[in-house]
Amino acid sequence: MLQNIRIVLVETSHTGNIGAVARAMKTMGLSKFYLVNPLVKPDSRAMSLAAGASDILNDVNIVQSFNDAIEDCSLVIGTSNRSRSLPWPSLDARECGVKSVEECQNGRIALVFGRERIGLTNKELQQCHYQVAIQANSEYSSLNLAMAVQIIAYEVRMAWLKEQKKAQCSVPVHVKSSYPSVKDLELFYQHLEQILLHSGFIRKGNPGKVMSKLRRLYARARPERDELNILRGMLASFEDTK
Ligand code: SAH
Repeated sequence: MLQNIRIVLVETSHTGNIGAVARAMKTMGLSKFYLVNPLVKPDSRAMSLAAGASDILNDVNIVQSFNDAIEDCSLVIGTSNRSRSLPWPSLDARECGVKSVEECQNGRIALVFGRERIGLTNKELQQCHYQVAIQANSEYSSLNLAMAVQIIAYEVRMAWLKEQKKAQCSVPVHVKSSYPSVKDLELFYQHLEQILLHSGFIRKGNPGKVMSKLRRLYARARPERDELNILRGMLASFEDTK
């Protein structure tokens, strides 16, 4: 199950952090590691901080864009201690662990961590279903990157252990319906934007906040795969009647 959960670091600038994240992951049983356009490649310093987790580091997937790291996922959770001007659906670290474990039985999950200096951009956060803030000292809430990964990975492990215990007690696991991948959601947003541009509801070059707000609306609603098919079908029917 935990194989379906990946840790994604965006534009990391310290190799030591990359190594320490590998170690944090392995201690909690996570192994899928993605680096989006890292500013430094894993080196001997990363290896030394990874300690016994060099296997995770050797298997790391280095990709060029954020989209490449998340497009096959059905749940994307972005971590940030900063509140944004357009607040995003949020979870605390514990809820993040529980949700990840619940959903990793039916799809891939990305837990995303930002740059050391500036974190995640609004655009990246808006590609996530949820934002997680680790509740820290409000006067100084910015954790070191690897420590933030450690806390989230620990919560995932705690939720996973609980799930294992439940399974042993043979409590029936209810089947969850499946959610679309990021790729399919993005195709839906593109389609929606096209239709709204064409109808004149939004203007090219000046879409305002409409698309961001619509993304947030659909992120909150979490349409299932068949519901997204209905929405795509509706958009297509508007095209047919033009
Ligand atoms: N100054 C940056 C924080 C960078 S810390 C900012 O304002 O966003 C590097 C990364 O560690 C963050 O992008 C986030 O992924 C994670 N992180 C650090 N502290 C966190 C917290 N309290 N809650 C959630 N994630 C946190």
